[in-house]
Amino acid sequence: MPELPEVETTRRGVDKHVVGRRIVALALYESRLRWRVAETISQQIAGQQVRRTGRRAKYLLIELDGGTLLLHLGMSGSLRVLPAETPRVLHDHFDLLLDSGVTLRFNDPRRFGSLHYTTQNPNEHPLLARLAPEPFDAAFNAEYLWGVTRRRRVAIKQLLMNSTLVVGVGNIYASEALFRARVKPRRQARTLTRKEVAKLTRAVRDVLNLAIRVGGTTLRDYVDADGNPGYFRQKLYVYERAGKPCRVCAKPIRQITQGQRSTYYCPSCQK
Ligand SMILES: [Zn+2]
Repeated sequence: MPELPEVETTRRGVDKHVVGRRIVALALYESRLRWRVAETISQQIAGQQVRRTGRRAKYLLIELDGGTLLLHLGMSGSLRVLPAETPRVLHDHFDLLLDSGVTLRFNDPRRFGSLHYTTQNPNEHPLLARLAPEPFDAAFNAEYLWGVTRRRRVAIKQLLMNSTLVVGVGNIYASEALFRARVKPRRQARTLTRKEVAKLTRAVRDVLNLAIRVGGTTLRDYVDADGNPGYFRQKLYVYERAGKPCRVCAKPIRQITQGQRSTYYCPSCQK
């Protein structure tokens, strides 16, 4: 599943191809995505120039002269930059055709992705308005994490993955951040010390930044968003390394299940 770093990598990959270009049309082949794509979008956006791209949580924002496109990759979506005449393949659901002769083509086998257009402030769109802070927001800081952990008995790893408290910290990144902060994933959130909370706040940002940097240098124009962290995998300390020696202390990495998701940690490095 595309996580925050893959969406940001996608944004960086498409940015130089779309900014300053005019939209010729939206060619919609399948409107039944997670929510039905409005057939009127094409008329609304044709002729508009792309001002900039942005991202909020896992939504890619394409800002036009008169409004903003909100695109979500869902569980299996990917966006590619292609010459417009490239033949379509199975699960290609729409083309955003640009005046450069290039298209942004959306492919999504499971159809959990989505496309919306708004002429209002996108941050006030119902899909975005109530999202929790994300790791790169100034609002996500040690003070905030300290506050939300104080009365919660839930395991710290599950708190990190609770999107009503912080958005964009997926399963891989939660395990990796906890390793870097040297905190065991099953610890009750409220037992973390101030120092651990501060370390964890930094670790969450660092691990996402690293994933974005690595993804951004390896994926380039063909932006594959199947959730495979690609080269980032070589930099993982614990994720999917059960039984393998810890890169710090050489003891075997352990795997447990929390909330139906696999968690990986080092029983010796993490307290
Ligand atoms: Zn270790």
